[in-house]
Amino acid sequence: EPIPVTVVGLGAMGMALASAFLAAGHPTTVWNRSAGKADDLVAAGAARAATITEALTASPLVITCLLDYPVLHQVLDPSGGALAGRTLVNLTNGTPEQARETATWAARHDVGYLDGGIMAVPAMIGRPEALVLYSGSQAAFNQHEQTLNRMGGSRYVGADPGSASLYDLALLSAMYGQFAGARHALALVGTENADLPEFTSSLLIPWLTATMIGLPVLAQQDTAQDSDSPSGMQAVAIANIVDASNAQGVDGDLLSHLLIPMRDLIGRRAAGRSLDDLVDLINRPEQGK
Ligand code: NDP
Repeated sequence: EPIPVTVVGLGAMGMALASAFLAAGHPTTVWNRSAGKADDLVAAGAARAATITEALTASPLVITCLLDYPVLHQVLDPSGGALAGRTLVNLTNGTPEQARETATWAARHDVGYLDGGIMAVPAMIGRPEALVLYSGSQAAFNQHEQTLNRMGGSRYVGADPGSASLYDLALLSAMYGQFAGARHALALVGTENADLPEFTSSLLIPWLTATMIGLPVLAQQDTAQDSDSPSGMQAVAIANIVDASNAQGVDGDLLSHLLIPMRDLIGRRAAGRSLDDLVDLINRPEQGK
């Protein structure tokens, strides 16, 4: 029997979360600052809470998905007592420190707390490939895992409430770095009127997929490296990217912050080592100056 769930926050993401619970047959109560955003959900069978306190007391499991933690506390703090004995699963994006502070706040109110990071866009919610990371109360996770799976695949990453946020931000930083690089790549080929969708599907995606083979080597951090891609060679290639970007009139500022220190660092290093130079640059950026 699907348990009642409350969703607080009906932005693009909260709306998708509430829809997933409704579709799976959970009695679903919703609350949003702008109440009108609940209209479609109510038409589909959700209950609209008139007040935040009513929303928090309607279900044993409360999901929050708001803009940020200041907003989360603005919404929850006045009614914290209403959460006593319930489980709060907060999917608002924030820092590990904010997650830990909120876990402390929840413990004070006798609330089981999970902090989560959604590794998906709203359109993916409700499908297993929409991964959600959780950290905090293992008991709360075990108790509600089946229900949480309605939103997507669930992964518990540890008892420290800050872990999900740390992993979430780490994965996002890898994504933004990759997107910045891809944007630069598209700008470069775009200067010669290349067919960008064709370039993307036939070259860019297969290339980025192939480069993933280097990631386990990066993860080793300081072990002996293979010398298939010696530093000297990489320094030349990076210098060529910078020069070609300038020559093609592509604004390389975004990527230059990464490439120029990399080129200089690698150029100064003895040849014969490869990816560990990059690890050094990220872990000890002062060496790149
Ligand atoms: P939206 O901007 O669409 O929604 C923001 C939500 O916060 C709305 O419910 C809004 O209410 C509410 N809000 C903002 N300010 C206040 C306030 N002062 N008081 C009360 N409520 C307020 O954002 P999303 O739904 O896209 O994102 C929500 C969370 O989900 C974020 O932490 C985001 O990082 C995370 N997320 C989003 C993804 C996405 O692709 N959209 C992907 C992964 C995570 P109102 O409607 O009244 O403005």
